[in-house]
Amino acid sequence: MRVCTRTYRKHDGFDYQIHCQRPRIPLKKNKLEWSGQVDSSVKMSNMIDQWRDELMSRLQKNDEWDLWLEHFLESVTDADRFKSVYELPFIDDVITITMPESSKCPDDSTEMREMGNDEFKQKNYAEAFEYYTQSILKAPAGSEELALGYANRSAVTKEEKKYELCLKDIELALSHGYPVNLKHKILERQGRCYYELGLYSEAAKSFEKAIFKLQKAKLKKEEMETREKKLNALLERCKDKPDDEKTLKGSKYMDPLPEITDIKSEKFPCASDSFSLKYTKEKGRYPVATANVKVGDILVVEEPYCSVINHKYLATHCHFCCERAEVPVPCSECSNVVYCSLKCQEASWETSHSLECSILPLVTELESDIAQLSLRMVVKATFKYLKEFKEKYGKSNEQETEVENTCSLGFNEDGVYDSHDYWAVYNLVNHTFDRKFPDLFRRTVMAVYLLKCLEKTEYFPADDEECSQTDHIEVGSHILRHLQMLPCNAHEVTEFLIEPGEMLTSNSIGIGSAIYATLSLFNHSCDPNVVRHSYGDKCVVRAIHNIKKGDEIVDSYSIIYPTMEKEKRLSDLRRQYYFECACLACKKDWPMYEELMNVPPSFKCDKCDTPIGSLEGEGGEETTNDCENCGHSNYVAKKVQTIVSYESDFNTVFSQVLSGDITKQSLSFLIEHQIRLENWMSRPWQDINKCQEAIKQCYSIQSNHYTLSKKKK
Ligand SMILES: [Zn+2]
Ligand SMILES: [Zn+2]
Ligand SMILES: [Zn+2]
Ligand SMILES: [Zn+2]
Repeated sequence: MRVCTRTYRKHDGFDYQIHCQRPRIPLKKNKLEWSGQVDSSVKMSNMIDQWRDELMSRLQKNDEWDLWLEHFLESVTDADRFKSVYELPFIDDVITITMPESSKCPDDSTEMREMGNDEFKQKNYAEAFEYYTQSILKAPAGSEELALGYANRSAVTKEEKKYELCLKDIELALSHGYPVNLKHKILERQGRCYYELGLYSEAAKSFEKAIFKLQKAKLKKEEMETREKKLNALLERCKDKPDDEKTLKGSKYMDPLPEITDIKSEKFPCASDSFSLKYTKEKGRYPVATANVKVGDILVVEEPYCSVINHKYLATHCHFCCERAEVPVPCSECSNVVYCSLKCQEASWETSHSLECSILPLVTELESDIAQLSLRMVVKATFKYLKEFKEKYGKSNEQETEVENTCSLGFNEDGVYDSHDYWAVYNLVNHTFDRKFPDLFRRTVMAVYLLKCLEKTEYFPADDEECSQTDHIEVGSHILRHLQMLPCNAHEVTEFLIEPGEMLTSNSIGIGSAIYATLSLFNHSCDPNVVRHSYGDKCVVRAIHNIKKGDEIVDSYSIIYPTMEKEKRLSDLRRQYYFECACLACKKDWPMYEELMNVPPSFKCDKCDTPIGSLEGEGGEETTNDCENCGHSNYVAKKVQTIVSYESDFNTVFSQVLSGDITKQSLSFLIEHQIRLENWMSRPWQDINKCQEAIKQCYSIQSNHYTLSKKKK
């Protein structure tokens, strides 16, 4: 048979780059010092390393070192392990905690605002925005500095014609006690923004208020009259103008959260009805499709049990929902975190930040999302819940739960697997038995440190009757458990960073981490059939291949075959996740992207999916390819013709998408094309990969994304 190269040679001329999703927490390429056995996925700061070394040297000098070590090694529970470090007599001499000073300061705030004013005068708006934001972060709650900061920042967004953002800042300034004698100015600005947005009735209201507030302004009579005249003229302009139909936009940095295709599953409220769970001894629990699923179908939309923002993005992304904060709102007590809105500020305070606020710098100093998440998990669960936990779930916490990893584990009393239920995330695998002493000891030191931080807050009741030393150890054991569970289960929260005009170098970055009960059930494949995207800290899972009823739904732990050599994939997966990958791409040694270009296309048997060799039928004459496996006669000429007829459209759409020109139509064209190719063609084949990458690109732009400002030349 002859290969029809004319049909399948590609001329896109692009140096095609796979946009690697970086979903699970990626392996950090730290040096494996100390013993070579340590899982490097948790970045332990020098601080932890120093304490670990100091503890170790004191222990080894001790006569009872052997006994201690034996006890630690024989510990079956995290509580025992935690206790043996937490109760060391010299622990407080080694792990010392200095509480950070309050980061609010009115003088700093004023200084920053004045620097902002200088930049503003020179029309350096980006710099002015930054200084004003700093001034807002530094301003104590209830201070005039806070309101002034917001008001001045609104002047920047007004000049930049970002009217919606400007309105947000004005609202914040007004709700934080902006000085009454200046209010007329900011109300005028508010009116002008509404006017520019075509919301004339709102604009009129603002101008009326401004006129009223003029009475309170300490102005000379003349100036007062001039201003009043001006405001009345503005008011007059709004009269008899119908409002534009548009409403104020939501977030600029992501599309509205999409919904699950089909109906929701009863057992898994965040997943589609086509999603179910299976269990085998070899594989443990894994999700399967209970119906045929098409490319583009949304299988899961999950909220995390909790999420954290990476320490590098604390000043730019909301500490509660992970969205990029357009006009950052600080915590009212500290300058360490920002929120996208007052709503998130309040919600964060209620669920965790009231306790974490004073100790957050101690935790972020570790530069580890895993550490932050472990602590957040026990804070969110609450002391009361964890105290009752042992009574309620009894044995589960005493034995390591990798023993009974059945399908029902983590479900609540109603048989529902609930993403917001601590019990569901508690039961995810933690690989304690695969860990060696250095790894476990190091994690225990970190858990002790985190618990000692927590002890500086009001997490634990002061009353001895309500809270004993054992209760502290119990909470510590939960932290230790999460420090082992999260490296294999937490997912990155990502943001797609767009370089204007350079889509090929645009890429997803990890801005935080989150723990999702349902997503953690997915096994890895280097050829995943789903793809994940972050919307705030929520995660949307879409099919990226057609999935047949009964097939396993597989995800990738940030490692895919087109971009990484097989040996490297296998060793990385072994090191962080403790398993041998046996996906099709690994078993059949599929070529990486570059070599994939040389793989000849091949159709597959209509009946049994077996590849039926190269192609024939260029001129449309109908010949058959008989399947070697089942004997079925396959007619391919029509299919060849169809694919040929779509080729030029595909190339056009592909180039458009890669250049950042993405429309609804291009996405639906790509999905249709991908479904067609997958139904007929045998994989791996380059066009299927290309089509898939283009589809992912379209989704990336709908999810968390941010366009970088153009580089100054
Ligand atoms: Zn938010
Ligand atoms: Zn705070
Ligand atoms: Zn594999
Ligand atoms: Zn066949």
